[in-house]
Amino acid sequence: MLGSVVVSSEEIDGMIRRLASEIEADLEGRSPVFIGVLKGCVFFLTDLTRRIRHSLEIDFIQVSSYGASTTSSGSVVLVKDITVDVRDRDVYLVEDIVDTGTTLTDVIRLIEARHPRSIQVVSLLSKPSRRQVDVEIAFLGTEIEDLFVVGYGLDYAELYRNVPEIHVLETP
Ligand code: 5GP
Repeated sequence: MLGSVVVSSEEIDGMIRRLASEIEADLEGRSPVFIGVLKGCVFFLTDLTRRIRHSLEIDFIQVSSYGASTTSSGSVVLVKDITVDVRDRDVYLVEDIVDTGTTLTDVIRLIEARHPRSIQVVSLLSKPSRRQVDVEIAFLGTEIEDLFVVGYGLDYAELYRNVPEIHVLETP
């Protein structure tokens, strides 16, 4: 059941405008590939990249870490690989949320094996109090408390992704 709103649509919109301008300033002279980590990234990646006035490519990677559960399993399986050649490219890895950091660490390792020139993480949300592995988030929307949230791409058992704002999940 949806609980209270943690991040409103207006707040999401404001964060995306800010992140887009921060990223635009960083893009000078770069050859960017935006890689979204499926499926949670979809709304964020599409809204964000539409605000960036710079030539860029988009690709996706999918790993499985969470099943129908609200705690991280800590191990990652590659479900869908990227198809763009990222060698010598500047990768912006787009995540919905960084929780323990284990998923991101594994995804970064997978992409690093393809020899990009750089990898920077863009995440809408971060739960710093849950971190187990240190990961650098170059572009962050906002930090949230240790709550399980859904909406704007984030699911519980594949539901709630289409909810336009971010809510806490009550009694999953
Ligand atoms: P980590 O590996 O950092 O613990 O977890 C990252 C992944 O776990 C995210 O990409 C997301 O799919 C899922 N996740 C972590 N926290 C939440 C949350 O509060 N809500 C939802 N829906 N998924 C989460």
